Amino acid sequence: MLKGKVALITGSTSGIGLGIARALAAQGCGVMLNGFGDAAAIERLCLELSEQHGAPVAYNRADLTHPAEIETLVADAVAQMGGLDILVNNAGIQHTAPVEEFPPEKWDAILAVNLSASFHTIHHALPHMKAKGWGRILNIASVHGLVASPNKAAYVAAKHGLVGLTKVVALETAGLGITCNAICPGWTRTELIEPQILAKAQALGVGLEAGGQALLAEKQPSRQFVSIEQIGQLAVFLCSSAAVQITGTAVPIDGGWTAQ
Ligand code: NAD
Repeated sequence: MLKGKVALITGSTSGIGLGIARALAAQGCGVMLNGFGDAAAIERLCLELSEQHGAPVAYNRADLTHPAEIETLVADAVAQMGGLDILVNNAGIQHTAPVEEFPPEKWDAILAVNLSASFHTIHHALPHMKAKGWGRILNIASVHGLVASPNKAAYVAAKHGLVGLTKVVALETAGLGITCNAICPGWTRTELIEPQILAKAQALGVGLEAGGQALLAEKQPSRQFVSIEQIGQLAVFLCSSAAVQITGTAVPIDGGWTAQ
């Protein structure tokens, strides 16, 4: 369905970003990966993805806290892959603490990666999409782009900001063949939430599995984790022609979290 298209997915060396990269590659889409990790493991991942799906795969290690590296990342995607049709702003980091104890440097880092980086990628990617009259921008926000939880000041502020940015870009691109939407996952079992599972398990004096179940019980009515494959399929749908009139939305995939 997406044969010949090119996607840049930030933070795609693990977790949700990798799930989205796999799902897009399975549709024949070329993918530019980005994110941190062991260089040899990332090289193996690129090979595996391109062999499995026959689609071009490239990688750029840009650190998204540096706007100059983001500019190079977008330029590299265009140069290596021959264009840029789909942008998935997925990279994200987390830190939990009450506001008065929240380290200012953690606030700055979370705002930089979870919000400002998406402004910079969109800023550089949009001219390529406008030139083709086709584009899809997916911002991986969170349920925390729609509702709040204690101890997540920076994360909640950044994700609410990302939903706002999504709406502005959707309005500015409406009718141009370009859509911009946010995906708002609930608990998804990735490295990002392992510290929270561990903290819950330790607080309750239970194992990691029971700690995970306790986190789900607090917020996610389905009491099941969202899977990275499910988020990948939602991303594929939002990139499809059927979704061309879906723009400016923030789509929850959260087991009922935000219905409460
Ligand atoms: P993850 O830790 O597995 O993945 C994060 C990715 O971002 C990694 O590839 C990492 O290398 C990359 N990254 C981090 N800092 C970076 C930087 N400065 N420059 C470049 N890349 C950087 O976590 P995940 O759960 O897959 O998170 C992906 C996105 O999904 C995040 O935006 C997160 O907020 C969001 N999200 C996650 C959950 C969840 O429950 N896991 C829920 C809602 C939203």
